[in-house]
Amino acid sequence: MTAPDIKPWLFIVEPYLGESLSHFLGRFRRANHLSPAGLGNLAEIGAVVARWERFHFNPRPSQQELSAIASVVEVDAKTLAEMLPPAGVGMQHEPVRLCGGCYAEIPCHRIAWQFKETGKCDRHNLRLLSKCPKCEARFKIPALWEDGCCNRCRLPFGNMVSCQKLAL
Ligand SMILES: [Zn+2]
Ligand SMILES: [Zn+2]
Repeated sequence: MTAPDIKPWLFIVEPYLGESLSHFLGRFRRANHLSPAGLGNLAEIGAVVARWERFHFNPRPSQQELSAIASVVEVDAKTLAEMLPPAGVGMQHEPVRLCGGCYAEIPCHRIAWQFKETGKCDRHNLRLLSKCPKCEARFKIPALWEDGCCNRCRLPFGNMVSCQKLAL
């Protein structure tokens, strides 16, 4: 008699619409007390998770890697692929950007904020923030957005909408 292949029991995290892979993986890891390396080991894809969380998608995550992560996080690979930039869309790694109005509605970092071509929030017609409007600290990578506020002065991301300028 062989022992069944028991996987550790994991908390499942539901993705938000438009959420970036960095933000989603950070939430999943915290819920399960996993480091980026720990998640990579579980999925048997090595050390790519930390790179993805910094928006380094070159080389682009392969279908095989996405399927491997999908089997651990229990979100289908197609949904994970939607957390990446579409093929041919350039990524802006830094600074990490934010629309406080969007965050107040759905508390997540959106992948579209990091596209090179994105300069404003189309939903709110506001310019995106690239630092805290109160203390000017840069935003951490979204995988580390645990508290939903500025890392330095604690201003909630959702409140930052009142400091955003109208996009012209
Ligand atoms: Zn917005
Ligand atoms: Zn601040």
